[in-house]
Amino acid sequence: MIVAERKPMAEIIGMVKDCKKVLVLACRGCVTVCSAGGEREAEILSSLIRLGMKKEGKSVETTIGSLVRQCDREYIDEIDQWKGQYDAVVSTACGVGVNFISNLRKDTMVYPALNTTFFGGSSEQGEWTEQCAGCGDCILHLTGGLCPVARCAKSLMNGPCGGSVDGKCEIAKDVECVWQSIHDRLCSFDRSAQMEVITPIRDWSTAGHGGPRKTVRDDLTV
Ligand code: SF4
Ligand code: SF4
Repeated sequence: MIVAERKPMAEIIGMVKDCKKVLVLACRGCVTVCSAGGEREAEILSSLIRLGMKKEGKSVETTIGSLVRQCDREYIDEIDQWKGQYDAVVSTACGVGVNFISNLRKDTMVYPALNTTFFGGSSEQGEWTEQCAGCGDCILHLTGGLCPVARCAKSLMNGPCGGSVDGKCEIAKDVECVWQSIHDRLCSFDRSAQMEVITPIRDWSTAGHGGPRKTVRDDLTV
């Protein structure tokens, strides 16, 4: 899922400081699962916005709404039910949701309440870790299912840098060296020979370096 966390309130208050009416719009997708932007968080944010504005000597009306997802055209029209009730939307979706509403609602100012951080999973209660960087050319079949693009501090493609100690990355003692883990995992499947195979220089244009990416599925388009 996409993992995100709420921005500092001072930053959010700075966005809405000239607003009289704000729609705090929750997303019931990934950001609900990572407890950053679901309905409960939108309610809390709504109160914090009113409180923050009061401290600035201003008042603001807040309305709370939520969409099934803010990254899907079919749900965006539901925003119209709150028409007239806001000067701006504060979205608790990830950056995709904010972009989507901005694309589809030319007359609506949308502010991001969250910092979108990474694609990850919940490793423990209240803890999420990055697992994939969406590079567009997955090599997990070569690396024992563990991603060196996202999980190696240097995104190395051909084995460790030599700086790891006791299985930990040289950047910090509590960060796993994913190349050590890849090695151990390949060995456990008797596939250590895979470590000797040189991965050719990658074409990073499939990642985020070649402009905005697009996926078109001919079997799904109408
Ligand atoms: S290789 Fe690319 S697509 Fe595969 S998990 Fe890593 S970043 Fe994601
Ligand atoms: S110690 Fe391991 S994870 Fe850290 S940068 Fe080197 S190879 Fe990558």
